[in-house]
Amino acid sequence: MIYLKTDEEIELMRAANQLVGKTLGELAKHIAPGVSTLHLDKVAEEFIRDNGAVPAFLGYGGFPASICASVNEQVVHGIPSAKAILKEGDVISVDCGTFLNGFVGDSAYTFCVGEVAPEVKALLKATKESLYLGIQHAIEGRRLGDISHAVQSYCESKGYSVVRELVGHGCGRKMHEEPEVPNYGRPGCGPLLRSGMCICIEPMINMGSKNVVFEKDGWTVRTKDRKCSAHFEHCIAIRPDGPQILSSFEFLEEVLGNNAI
Ligand code: MG
Ligand code: MG
Repeated sequence: MIYLKTDEEIELMRAANQLVGKTLGELAKHIAPGVSTLHLDKVAEEFIRDNGAVPAFLGYGGFPASICASVNEQVVHGIPSAKAILKEGDVISVDCGTFLNGFVGDSAYTFCVGEVAPEVKALLKATKESLYLGIQHAIEGRRLGDISHAVQSYCESKGYSVVRELVGHGCGRKMHEEPEVPNYGRPGCGPLLRSGMCICIEPMINMGSKNVVFEKDGWTVRTKDRKCSAHFEHCIAIRPDGPQILSSFEFLEEVLGNNAI
């Protein structure tokens, strides 16, 4: 069942999601060659707790960390590790969640580590653009497939491929609520979009083929061809006057300046 949120609940969702945005902003200060993904996890956990919230990913389904840190060919759900040291030219998708006042915030951004190859940066840019295109279609009275189709058609028009095994989702008191929000689909199909729906749109886009492999650690998903993947996520609310983005890239983009995607 799809839970429609009240105005008050949407404000609580916004607070949880803004804290995710600020956490990503804090991480943006630390992402650099030589830094381990475990260090980033510790920075995130401390920041979230210092702000009176709880990391939503920690312990979720047994996940052992506060962020997912997925480097280069890793698509999502990378486990932070002291052995995973960032190097110049890497990209790292950081997915972060908070629990604040009974509601979940959930947002992700793919960061460049130093100078990144132009073709990789182009993948990141297209993935981020597809997220905002999808959001533009999150209009009351339309269908969820309109969002999915907007993401897919844009990314495929650029020659990239859309991961099928992982999708966005409704969000609220629980991190994963109905409906599923695929990054592929047909316009005019799927659940009716209604005011009060809060959903996470999160394109996971591959430079090569769409196929992925689930690693033996039980979490990490990587591209089968080991080519690069990108991931951007916003949590949004559908409102009578259009979509509202509850999460924020503003904090991290202020830190990144010209290095923002
Ligand atoms: Mg997420
Ligand atoms: Mg999500």
